Amino acid sequence: MTLAIDGGTPVRTAPWPAWPPPMDHAQRALVTAVLDSGQWGATQGGQACADLVAAFARRSGVEHGVAVGNATLGLFAALRGLGVGPGDEVIVPAYTFVATATAVLLAGATPVIVDVDAADLHLSAPAVEAALTPRTAAIVPVHLAGSPADMDPLNALAARHGLAVVEDAAQAHGAAYRDRPVGGLGDAGVYSFQSSKAMTAGEGGLIVCRAGEVHEAVWSLCNVGRALDGAWYGHPRAGWNLRLTEIQAALLLPWLDRLDDEIDRRNTFAAAVERDLPGDRVSVVPQPPGTTRDSRHLLMLRVHVPFDRPFLLAAMDAEGVPLDGGYPPLGTMPALTEAGARPEPCPSAEAAARDVLWVRQPMLMDDLTGAAHIAEALAKVLAGAARGPRP
Ligand SMILES: *Cc1c(COP(=O)(O)O)cnc(C)c1O
Repeated sequence: MTLAIDGGTPVRTAPWPAWPPPMDHAQRALVTAVLDSGQWGATQGGQACADLVAAFARRSGVEHGVAVGNATLGLFAALRGLGVGPGDEVIVPAYTFVATATAVLLAGATPVIVDVDAADLHLSAPAVEAALTPRTAAIVPVHLAGSPADMDPLNALAARHGLAVVEDAAQAHGAAYRDRPVGGLGDAGVYSFQSSKAMTAGEGGLIVCRAGEVHEAVWSLCNVGRALDGAWYGHPRAGWNLRLTEIQAALLLPWLDRLDDEIDRRNTFAAAVERDLPGDRVSVVPQPPGTTRDSRHLLMLRVHVPFDRPFLLAAMDAEGVPLDGGYPPLGTMPALTEAGARPEPCPSAEAAARDVLWVRQPMLMDDLTGAAHIAEALAKVLAGAARGPRP
C-alpha cells in the first residue's frame, strides 16, 4: 500500500477534535456570572476560586488547596512551602516536561535528574534511592501521561529518609493509585490547567495538601506573604502574588462535572487502539504497578522495530494521524545543567526519546473510528519504516 507521504491515499482526512472543546452551558453561565459580578480577582470576595479549591481538595482526598497561576508556580510554591530551598537537592524524573525541573530551579534548589523505569517511564524508588545524598530534601514523582507513579514505595523511601514528596499531577486530574486519588498521596500535589491539559482555562494551576501548616505556608507564599487570617498589609513571610483569577476558576469548576466521563471516553479509546495495534511492532507503554484509574492525558506508544524517526513522524502526519515525538531526556538539556541541575545517567529516558511516540489527548477524545485510524496508519507506516531510513 503506497504511503500518503509517497503520494498514496491518506488513512484519514477528517479533522481531529479541537482542544479545548467548546464551552458547555454551565461554563458559559458561570463565566458570564463572574464577568457580570465585577469580581474578577480572587481577593474581591467571589466564590469561584474557593469552590474550585474545595472541589479539588475533596476529590484529592485532602483538606486543603491553593489556586495558582500555573503548575510551574504551583510546584515552586509547594516545594518552598515544604521548606525546600537553596542548598537542597530535589529528585525529578528524566522523562517529563521541563517545568518539573525548572520549578526546582525557581525554588533555588538543585534538580537531580534520575532515570525512569525502562518499561513504564515513571520515577521508581530504586532509582531515587541510588541518587540520594545528605542534601536530598524532596522528590517530585510525575504522574506521567495520566498514569500514577508507583507511590507506595516512593512514599516509604521518603519517610525513611525524611524527604518531602510533591506530586506533579499536571497531567493526571482524576487519576487514582490503588483506588486513592492522586494529589493527596504525597505532602502536596500540583495540577495544571494550561491549554493542553485535561481541564484547562488557557492557563492555571492548583496545589492540594493534607497538613494545615503546609497549607498555611503555601497559601502565604502565593498571597504576597500574608498570613491566612492576617492583615492586608501584614507580610510575615516573603511571598508573591501567584493567584488564579475568578474567570479562570469559572471555566474550570463546571468541568469537574464531566471530567470522569471524559476520562472514561479516553480509556475506551486507548483500549481500542491497543487492541488494534500490530503488537509485534508497536505497543502501548504499560502503566506503573498500582494504577487503578489512568486519566489518559497522552497515549504513549513504544515502537519495537528499527525505524527512522523523522520519517515516521512525517509519514504519520501525511496519513492524517499526527503523532508527537515526546520529551528529550531532561539530563541531556544543556540549559538545565548550565543552570545547576545534576544529571544522572538516563539510558531509559534516552531509549524513550528514540522509541516512544505519543498520541495527544485531543485525538483520544475522538470516536472509535479515530482509534482504528491510528492503528491502521501505524501498521501501514511501520511496514514502510522498517525498510530503514530513506535515501
Ligand atoms: C504542563 C506540565 C507542567 C507545567 O504546567 P504549567 O501549568 O504549564 O506551568 C509541569 N509538569 C508536567 C508534567 C506538565 O505536563
